[in-house]
Amino acid sequence: MNLIIGILYLIAAVLFILGMKLLSSPETARLGNILSSIGMFIAIVSTIPLLPGITNKSIFQQHLINYILIIIAILIGLIVGVFGAYAVKMTAIPQMVAIFNGVGGGAAALVSAIEFFTHSSNPQTISYFFVITTLFASLVGAVSFTGSVIAFSKLQGLIDKPVTYSLQKIVNAIIMFGIILLGLLTIFSDSHIIFGWFFIISLVFGILMTLPIGGADMPVVIALLNSFTGLAVAVDGFTIHNIAMIIGGTLVGSSGTLLTLLMCKAMNRSITNVLFGAFGKITSSDSSGGTTGDKTIKSITSDEVAIMLAYAQLVIIVPGYGLAVAQAQHQVRELENELEKRNIEVKYAIHPVAGRMPGHMNVLLAEANVPYDHLYEMEQINPEFQRADVVLVIGANDVVNPAAKNNPGSPIYGMPILNVQQAKQVIVLKRSMNPGFSGIENELFYNENTRMLFGDAKDSVSKLINELKKVK
Ligand code: NDP
Repeated sequence: MNLIIGILYLIAAVLFILGMKLLSSPETARLGNILSSIGMFIAIVSTIPLLPGITNKSIFQQHLINYILIIIAILIGLIVGVFGAYAVKMTAIPQMVAIFNGVGGGAAALVSAIEFFTHSSNPQTISYFFVITTLFASLVGAVSFTGSVIAFSKLQGLIDKPVTYSLQKIVNAIIMFGIILLGLLTIFSDSHIIFGWFFIISLVFGILMTLPIGGADMPVVIALLNSFTGLAVAVDGFTIHNIAMIIGGTLVGSSGTLLTLLMCKAMNRSITNVLFGAFGKITSSDSSGGTTGDKTIKSITSDEVAIMLAYAQLVIIVPGYGLAVAQAQHQVRELENELEKRNIEVKYAIHPVAGRMPGHMNVLLAEANVPYDHLYEMEQINPEFQRADVVLVIGANDVVNPAAKNNPGSPIYGMPILNVQQAKQVIVLKRSMNPGFSGIENELFYNENTRMLFGDAKDSVSKLINELKKVK
């Protein structure tokens, strides 16, 4: 490899790693994003010889002679990327990640398939290592592609229930066995037709594997498919001798795996439970959340809540998915200002899976310039609820559901939750009695010290600010 290209790939790799490090905090995330983008730009121009005097002699390189097609592809990618970044709503980011990830997995699968079809009849380039790596990247990339399409459809509400049928696991096992068999036949025959069937069945497997998984688990599945895409890209890097792809793919693969494990830990679920548990397929006993008998809720008006708030010493705000839907982050920040003017202490309780992606609440609140040191993680804030005068649960539901602690039959049993019920008063801001993403009822709403403030979170918080200003 040309020395200059080697150095450019090294710079790109350092920028990827630095970028990822900076992405771990909202304060430095923007810079991290910019550095990673510069790294990706350097990797692209080093791979396609757009710079004069730089020649990259990889196998991949030898095919890369159609500059017009390359530039058209880059322009399409740019337009879609910029449009996505500006047009897609914050609440639809998981869907966007699913689609982008699927495209990455599909591209990785196509690169290996094209490599196989191009070189499998040439005894000088073909080897067992070459065939096995192309098969592996095709399988993982294809599963990631179709799995991501199904994940997108579920998050977008196009498929609203986990699709399950009897003998599902056996059917999936037979298909997996078929894939292994076709893979072995390809290794020993180098047959294009058998490889073609291997590729098609891998695509089908991605669909069948993702269909039974519930909507609430889709962000975990996307993180897992993301790690698959990274793996496929890294393996492609070995096949076509591209170091940038090996490094970039490994980073995506390992970070996707870590994210998957962290999300599972935050929900107290195993990865096998996520993949095979059909979470979100609610049975009638599940949907009761364990509550029985007559239950009444107590609603409250914004002027009553304002009085409660005015006389509080500590107010804890618990944001959830509904805050993102209502885009009420700026109003929440304004409410915090009003409370602080009255020397009332305000803290935010951040559950690790509040919202629909990791860090969702941190990003939303950072957008409204909520000071980062006002945000407390679950372990830090849970002991504080006992001394809180008022807890405002704004668009959160599953992450404050006591069924996770009290009801062994509940699908969320075992998930660590925010202990909001320990506060003196709990005010829940939501539009109706509809459940959260997991589809189960919430006992918290019927507690003695809970009051429901119904309405869109943005409207409700705006009213609270106005009423609070009136309280002398
Ligand atoms: P939930 O999905 O449990 O609840 C959100 C609540 O917001 C709903 O009850 C809804 O009630 C309310 N809401 C929606 N729109 C508005 C609005 N405009 N104004 C006021 N309220 C609104 O959210 P949580 O954040 O509590 O929990 C996240 C869920 O997602 C968990 O089940 C978690 O396991 C799952 N999940 C999250 C992941 C992550 O990485 N963050 C990953 C995987 C899963 P109503 O319709 O009545 O208004």
